[in-house]
Amino acid sequence: MKLVRFLDNQVVRFGKLEDGTIVELNDPDPDWSIRQLFETGRQFEVDAVKLLAPCLPSKVICLGLNYRSHAEEMNHDLPKKPIIFLKPSTSVIGTGEPIICPPQSKRVDYEAELGVVIGRRTYRVRAEEALDYVIGYTCANDVTARDKQPKEGQWTYAKSFDTFCPLGPVIETGIEDPESLIVRGYLNGKLVQEAPTADHYFKVAAIIEFVSGCMTLLPGDVILTGTPSGIGLLSLGDRFAVAIDGIGVLENTVTSMD
Ligand code: MG
Repeated sequence: MKLVRFLDNQVVRFGKLEDGTIVELNDPDPDWSIRQLFETGRQFEVDAVKLLAPCLPSKVICLGLNYRSHAEEMNHDLPKKPIIFLKPSTSVIGTGEPIICPPQSKRVDYEAELGVVIGRRTYRVRAEEALDYVIGYTCANDVTARDKQPKEGQWTYAKSFDTFCPLGPVIETGIEDPESLIVRGYLNGKLVQEAPTADHYFKVAAIIEFVSGCMTLLPGDVILTGTPSGIGLLSLGDRFAVAIDGIGVLENTVTSMD
């Protein structure tokens, strides 16, 4: 099932996408595991509405250096434990919305990643049961002001500008093995990143165990699982797409702040 949030005549609605038609569902907030999803009886053509980010995370937790190929291109050793940082909820945008380059940065980069969407309140779960807490998966772009990211030190500033967390276009609920996917990134239509999620250094289940050992994850929270090699610069007017087979294509265009 492909879950979407969308805007219809200024009203935010929730639904499932089926062959170009959105079947409206009840809003699953606040806890997708407690309230069963049901159809409201309304349907919408996807081309007639505006898709939004498919969930509204209270927080986005990101993995740094989770692909060997990316650690090598950044001249970093692979970490012994997951490196995590946060992106604020205010950085989240949906497909088709502009990525806005802030004046503080001369170098804004794309990072194509798999996003894990939490479906239940998650605290101190073991890896063996961690995937039971996932509602589904989405495409993500961990947009980064690279010149504001020191090699040693905090990364959150570089990662947290408004619009720096495109998510979407859907949450696919039918993926059983998140390590069986291919993440691709396209800059203006040209393939620039491609890697199997099997290359994740820390697997999704282990990441959830690690993160939930520290903080409570709420329904709709998203974990970005790291980017493979091939990162690069976004220039004004560029289109960047993150594509994951079985989920879809998240595409955003770059503008500046003025
Ligand atoms: Mg990243």
